[in-house]
Amino acid sequence: MGHDGRMTDRRNDRREELAANLAKVERRIAAACAAAGRPREEVTLVVVTKTYPAADVRILSELGVRHVAENRDQEAAPKAAECADLPLTWHFVGQLQTNKVRSVVGYADIVQSVDRSRLVAALSKEAVRAGRELGCLIQVALDAGAGGRGERGGVAPGGIEELADLVARSEGLRLDGLMTVAPLTGEYAGRQQAAFERLMDLSADLRVAHPAATMVSAGMSGDLEQAVAAGATHVRVGTAVLGVRPRLG
Ligand SMILES: *Cc1c(COP(=O)(O)O)cnc(C)c1O
Repeated sequence: MGHDGRMTDRRNDRREELAANLAKVERRIAAACAAAGRPREEVTLVVVTKTYPAADVRILSELGVRHVAENRDQEAAPKAAECADLPLTWHFVGQLQTNKVRSVVGYADIVQSVDRSRLVAALSKEAVRAGRELGCLIQVALDAGAGGRGERGGVAPGGIEELADLVARSEGLRLDGLMTVAPLTGEYAGRQQAAFERLMDLSADLRVAHPAATMVSAGMSGDLEQAVAAGATHVRVGTAVLGVRPRLG
């Protein structure tokens, strides 16, 4: 067999692996929805493709994935460019520095990690410049002190309202909802479902003033069941679909 044949074999192996992993994750989401009495369509799978190549994103797209997420602009920008022909919605889920905003706005449809007013201003300016409407989720840090920020980004619950109002009145931005990562420290450490239920309560509060901000992004490979049980609309799954990441990301 020639070089091309081996390449094709390797791609087919990877395709089978990703298809099997996706099917497993799909069964988990469906079971969690059934257990919670929720229709399966209420939950959108966002596959976190960070550290994995554009070739994997292409296979995932062929397998029916429509939402992918990245957390580092340096890696995401070239990957999104390579996959620009695919019918994908790109989510940005990492801590975002304002000097990367212009690049991120070039490919992201939704930024899930909005956590400070300076970032909102930068996103608005670049979205307007690009002639785009950018979806925004406020990232909530359930382990932050009052008025503080979380270690992995996010604003404390007390800061949501002000930030949400700012997004809602910023040109080029659309307030879509809330996102969180289950805290490793503080009162919610090891209590994912309680953390996600708290996020749902915060979402209900938010929707009083912003009824269209219905997205609730919570749950990853290890805790998607708890997120679906709590009421999440979006789960962000990396490892369970693509495998254990070769390095921290
Ligand atoms: C990496 C990442 C995920 C996916 O985590 P897995 O445990 O690999 O499923 C979800 N959300 C964010 C913000 C991430 O950075």
